[in-house]
Amino acid sequence: MKVIKEINEMQKAAADLIQAGKTIGFVPTMGYLHEGHERLLEEARKENDFVVLSIYVNPLQFGEHEDLDHYPRNIEHDLSVARKNDVDFIFLPENKTMYPSPLSIEMVVSKRANVLCGRSRPGHFEGVVTVLTKLFNICHPTRTYFGQKDAQQVAVVDALIQDFNFPIQLVSVPTVREEDGLAKSSRNINLSPQERLEAPAIQKGLQKGKSLAKTQNLEIKEIIKETRQFIERETRGKIDYIELLSYPELEPVEVIDRQVILAAAVYYENARLIDNTVFAPGDIS
Ligand code: AMP
Repeated sequence: MKVIKEINEMQKAAADLIQAGKTIGFVPTMGYLHEGHERLLEEARKENDFVVLSIYVNPLQFGEHEDLDHYPRNIEHDLSVARKNDVDFIFLPENKTMYPSPLSIEMVVSKRANVLCGRSRPGHFEGVVTVLTKLFNICHPTRTYFGQKDAQQVAVVDALIQDFNFPIQLVSVPTVREEDGLAKSSRNINLSPQERLEAPAIQKGLQKGKSLAKTQNLEIKEIIKETRQFIERETRGKIDYIELLSYPELEPVEVIDRQVILAAAVYYENARLIDNTVFAPGDIS
């Protein structure tokens, strides 16, 4: 396993592999690796000759009042997880390497970003697509792996790859959960013990909403209301949003006649958690 900090070195290593006819599976992360990240690495390992993991807490995708300074980090732990998962290259750049000077060109995400997290975190997806454009050009992935936990991110990356013709296959990997259903997240470490006990309510509420859509012919706003009431009853976390939209287009729907996402974000004292469930009419009839 090789740790690379410089862009030109990573770019050369990746270009040499592609030139030699090898495939590269690329897993971009912000580190503090857990089993969710490991699932992405496992998939990448299975499907490619080489695996590149990037660890970079991208300041561009954090708002002014967000948790950039408190984002958990543990590089020694990450290196051992990477080794265990047979990663070939870790790209581990510093801020001054990624953004040596202010960018001259800014990207704007005009679709799929003005709802859900994009609405609560203005500029977030602009930061995501900017860093990914750089990382794709540095790591030359054949395939890139993203978690369905961040379903809106998957939808935006899908649009990025299509709009800008990156020759990359996007692979979306199901959410890995704790035993009580809470989606694994680097941010879970910032929950108090009581918050940790309550947080599985987010997924339970979403499943309740989905099952209401299945068993009763409720209107969308009723499904959202019932989901909200369930989550509010079970946790003192403050709901940021609960939305039901088409997926991956992320447009409003009147009825569930195509694949949809029911998604929620909840604020706790030191962490904002997100989760979702994606389902199609076939799944609920
Ligand atoms: P992050 O380090 O939080 O930016 O996440 C890096 C990648 O891991 C993203 O594609 C996430 O969607 C994915 N990921 C994070 N948590 C999970 C999880 N619980 N299950 C599956 N993938 C995840």
